[in-house]
Amino acid sequence: MKSFPLHDVVSPLDDSWSLERLAYLQQTFADAPPEAVLTWALHTFTPQICLATSFGPQSIVLMHLISELAPETTVFYLDTELLFLETYTLRAQLEQLLGIGIVRVTPQLSVEDQARLHGPELWARRPDQCCELRKVLPLRRFLEDQRAWITGVRRDAGPARQAAQLVEWDHANGLVKLNPLVDWSKERVWDYLRRHDLPTNVLHERGYPSIGCRPCTRPVREGEDERSGRWVGFEKTECGIHRWPSEAGKTAQAVAPRERR
Ligand code: SF4
Repeated sequence: MKSFPLHDVVSPLDDSWSLERLAYLQQTFADAPPEAVLTWALHTFTPQICLATSFGPQSIVLMHLISELAPETTVFYLDTELLFLETYTLRAQLEQLLGIGIVRVTPQLSVEDQARLHGPELWARRPDQCCELRKVLPLRRFLEDQRAWITGVRRDAGPARQAAQLVEWDHANGLVKLNPLVDWSKERVWDYLRRHDLPTNVLHERGYPSIGCRPCTRPVREGEDERSGRWVGFEKTECGIHRWPSEAGKTAQAVAPRERR
C-alpha cells in the first residue's frame, strides 16, 4: 500500500464504534484531503473494506485514488442488469486504465424472474420494491463480511443527501461508511477528472448528470437538480442504499459493533 503522510493517524484500539468516536474522526479529518481518510480507513479495515462505484463522476475520482493508494482493494458495483450500455463500456475502460478488478454484484432474481413473480416493469409501478430487490438487498448481502464501505456521496448532490457525513455509521447495513468527497462540489469533481484525464460516461454529454438504470433515468434541463432525472413522475429521489439517521428517524444513540461472521 502506498504511504501517505498523516500528522495524526487514528488507530482504533478495539472494534467498537460510538457516535462520539465517529464524530472525533470527522473532526480529525475535516480539513484533510480525501487521501488522508482513505489511507486511515485502508490501514484500519483492510481486507474488510470495499469501494462502491456507480461509475458516476465522484466514483471515478475515488476509483482513481484507490488505484493509487491500494489497488488490491475490493471495488464493486450493483449490476441491476438494467444499466445503460454506455455504463458497461465505461466499466471495461476503467478496469483497463486503472488496473483494478471491479466485482459485479447481482440481484437474486433475473429481470425475467422478477417479471414472472411481481409482474412486468415493476420499476414503472413500484420502484421502491424494484430497488429493494435489485439494489438494497444485493448490497446488504455483499456487505455482510465487510467492516467499512466507501461511497461517492456528496452533500450537494441533492436535498436527501444533506445529512451525509465524512465518516458515519450505516444503520441499515451495520458497518462504518466513509464518504471522502462529501464536501466536494460538482465542479471540484469535474476539475479532478479533467486534471487526471479520466474517462467518464458519454451520457453526461447528452444531459444525464446522474445515471442509474435505463428505465428510471432521464436527461435533465440546465439548472435542474442533478438527480432530478431519476424516477421522474415519482416522489422517489433515492434508491434506498443510502439512508441517514435523520431520514430513518434514528436518534443519536451509541452504535454497537456488528457481530462478526
Ligand atoms: Fe428498478 Fe429503477 Fe431501481 Fe433500477 S433504478 S432497481 S430499474 S426501480
